Amino acid sequence: MKTKVLLFLLTTSIVVSSCNSSQKNYEAKYVFLFIGDGMGIQQVNTAQLFSDSVLNDSVGIAFTKFPISSMSTTFAATRYITCSAAAGTALSTGTKTSIGTIGLNATHTDTLYSIATDFKKAGKKVAILTSVSIDHATPAAFYAHKGSRSSYYEIAKDLVVSNYDFFASGGFVEPNGSKNDSAAISIFQLGAARGIPFTSSLTGVDSLMKLGVNSIVFSAHNPGEGSSLQYDIDQSDSDISLRDITRKAIEVVDNPNGFFIMVEGGKIDWSCHDNDAATTIREVISFSKAIEEAIAFYKKHPNETLIIVTADHETGGMSLGNTKNGYKNHLKILAKQNVSQEKLHSAIEKFKIVTPNANFKDVLKLIEEHTGLSTDGDHALTAEELADLNVAYQIYFRNKKPKTDKNTYSKTDLLAKTAISILNTKAGIGWTSSTHTGSPVPVFAIGEGQELFSKFQDNVDIPKNILKASGINR
Ligand SMILES: [Zn+2]
Repeated sequence: MKTKVLLFLLTTSIVVSSCNSSQKNYEAKYVFLFIGDGMGIQQVNTAQLFSDSVLNDSVGIAFTKFPISSMSTTFAATRYITCSAAAGTALSTGTKTSIGTIGLNATHTDTLYSIATDFKKAGKKVAILTSVSIDHATPAAFYAHKGSRSSYYEIAKDLVVSNYDFFASGGFVEPNGSKNDSAAISIFQLGAARGIPFTSSLTGVDSLMKLGVNSIVFSAHNPGEGSSLQYDIDQSDSDISLRDITRKAIEVVDNPNGFFIMVEGGKIDWSCHDNDAATTIREVISFSKAIEEAIAFYKKHPNETLIIVTADHETGGMSLGNTKNGYKNHLKILAKQNVSQEKLHSAIEKFKIVTPNANFKDVLKLIEEHTGLSTDGDHALTAEELADLNVAYQIYFRNKKPKTDKNTYSKTDLLAKTAISILNTKAGIGWTSSTHTGSPVPVFAIGEGQELFSKFQDNVDIPKNILKASGINR
């Protein structure tokens, strides 16, 4: 009899406790959503290995140590392989949409609202940050509603009326309107009319905070291509990093009611479109350093903070391993690359202007300076690789107007492209695409409500569970 009672009590307590966990009211007051654009598990894994074995960094990719690591699908409403606009909208609103669409449903007949608006309604502060331009697809999905992600000026106009508290990025793509619209009023004027200040210095942000200004828009003073922050691999000490703006955002929006901060590592995608592994690894590490700021905040408020790290899709079909190298990897040779492919192209372009009659040997020296590729040493260029570089040299230096290739987000030339491709192959990195892939992406979580992200999920579940973890009903 006693046993029966004990069994009954045990069963009851199990039922009660499982009810409690499914109905638990979560109260994450401080929420961080980090989106690594194009950051598949391969990008994270390669950056982790590089950080461990080449940089000997004891911290490494900090978010891989979060207690929850799972996966998410990425497909759009109309295509297996998504784009940043459709994926950004799925992650921001909880509804899938069509390719190129920002904050509208697939047929553009309905407006979709991002969870950032729910946080605002709940009296919390909102910050939207990115390493690309603030009118780019991922950040735009958190405040704009436009049928085309390329309507940069129109997207920026939605930013001005969003009432969010802080924006930080490399700037705007079309602050003065599209090329065809000379009558457009600049975003800066439109913002000023609503009392929104724009600044390009972090100390400027401090001064504006002291004045009690509601919305602040920060743009880097030295933007890279497409009004982005400079690639981490190309940064000088005076350049603004994603970590700098994340730290500043926490200062700006920290308040007793709580906040929602979205941080996009936007250039992971760009360097993956270029199939440039060294630049990608540095971008993932830089993204991870920004996340360390959130982790430091979490340590001060462990019961009230939630950090989610995920991606909108994978870019490049990156792999650790390729057919040519078989089972061998030499990640350490990527450490010799000291500029992005985009900057290598600029260096080659400048070299041609200064030395138009440069011979192949001179050009090889320039390539060696920036990539470590050399005719001698452990990983010396093979005859086949030298022949490929020579063909590219002939095309670029012997043609008066050599073709400049336009990658998705950067200009390049065959010589820069060939050199980076050879380096990647020698390192044992593979790429199957210059666009996105349909792979699921990783999801990492720590903090209040972390268990809501523990299963294989659809990308639209992520924002819904973020609201749940925050105790906010739509
Ligand atoms: Zn993307």
